[in-house]
Amino acid sequence: TDFTTLGLAAPLLRALEEAGYTTPTPIQAQAIPTVLEGRDLLGIAQTGTGKTAAFSLPILHRLNAKGGRPPRGGCRALVLSPTRELCAQIAENVRTYGGHLGLSVAVVFGGVPHGPQRRALAQGVDILVATPGRLQDHLDQGTARLDRVEVLVLDEADQMLDKGFLPAIRRLVRVLPAGGPGGRQTLFFSATMPSEIGRLAGELLHDPARVEV
Ligand code: AMP
Repeated sequence: TDFTTLGLAAPLLRALEEAGYTTPTPIQAQAIPTVLEGRDLLGIAQTGTGKTAAFSLPILHRLNAKGGRPPRGGCRALVLSPTRELCAQIAENVRTYGGHLGLSVAVVFGGVPHGPQRRALAQGVDILVATPGRLQDHLDQGTARLDRVEVLVLDEADQMLDKGFLPAIRRLVRVLPAGGPGGRQTLFFSATMPSEIGRLAGELLHDPARVEV
């Protein structure tokens, strides 16, 4: 398998070539065609398996193909991740893969001033990468809206459980468009599946494809 068989747009393939990627990892080969079809996904995978590209590439493809502008104050794709370091890393990868598309990326995490994040959100962003706590702050302050989210990603869900983010995640999900056919697409990744994570996945996913690597 190589990337050209997966159905990704030419500007994405060009970015992958420039990044030196030749062969999709197993999770990429399995997840990318499924996510491109619009299906929900449960991915059981550790860091280092290439899962960031597995969700980022089909999201970039879909947002680019569909076109349109992000809503002011909101985003079209939301990636929730447990730490600022992971958020920054995901955003950097998304910028690399999407370098030949005109899509915007922003990060929102705690420990830094709200102002720049507020200004980035106000413009509207195509792909927002956030920790649940700080994003909840923005929602509470009325500086973020999530009612136009087309794709939700939960990355490292078990780590988010460990950090006590599950209540924040459940509150955030309540203001998202509903999932299911014709609604919000959800991609859920976790290295382990403790029962609370299994329950959360059951709440968020509709008829998901399951990929375990
Ligand atoms: P991740 O599991 O998403 O944290 O990715 C682990 C590392 O592998 C990152 O540094 C990626 O840039 C790199 N990577 C992901 N997919 C590929 C690929 N198909 N070929 C080469 N490197 C990759």
